[in-house]
Amino acid sequence: MRFLILSDIHANIDALDAALAAAAGTWDRAVVLGDLVGYGAEPNAVIDRVRALDPLATIRGNHDKAACGLDDGSSFNHVARFAATWTGETLTDDNREYLRALPQGPLRLADDILICHGAPFDEDHYIFDGEDASQALEETTELLCFFGHTHLPVVFVRSALTLGYVVPDGDDALGMELAAGARYLVNPGSVGQPRDGDPRAAFAIYDAQTRMLQTRRIGYPVEVAQRRILAAGLPASLANRLAIGR
Ligand code: ZN
Repeated sequence: MRFLILSDIHANIDALDAALAAAAGTWDRAVVLGDLVGYGAEPNAVIDRVRALDPLATIRGNHDKAACGLDDGSSFNHVARFAATWTGETLTDDNREYLRALPQGPLRLADDILICHGAPFDEDHYIFDGEDASQALEETTELLCFFGHTHLPVVFVRSALTLGYVVPDGDDALGMELAAGARYLVNPGSVGQPRDGDPRAAFAIYDAQTRMLQTRRIGYPVEVAQRRILAAGLPASLANRLAIGR
């Protein structure tokens, strides 16, 4: 089974379509780690596209909760809350119900693969550093856990004695074979609002048979996504940040 791992799409249909086009033919089932909406201008188009993929699993993110009314967005900054309110008003009833019904992570994909939005121990917690990663590994047993939420691609590797990490940056594709006896925490990065200084859409493909993990970056028409954000009346900062990947 080859999994297409998508996270933090954030209503950016242009980035999602570029990622899907680039990944065509290289995966069997999609897995979505949450935050389908929020920030971007096409929440319904993104939800429709995700639903059409018939993912093996889709879990909710904090922006999904805020947009469909499961969370009041009180922990959000002003811009994020504005976007969440706009998204909530823009969603079709059907797509709002879809978001409300999304399961909370963590969710087990297979015996040794877990997915979550933030962290396995708290769907809203950010895994930024080794301390967060250690806690996530201590509180789980799976060999591999995919997470999102930070919008920063990273692979944490726990071997017998050490915790290390790899940041896939620069390349179009980074391939690594997961080592036997090690445990991994993998953030594929964000499809629709990258924050690592690289504006290209990020995603990952994992082949469970060969244990090959590939992280990928794909350019997309950022200016189209920016125009949609401005035309929707969303804050200009949400358009500006897409161009610099922050
Ligand atoms: Zn997000």
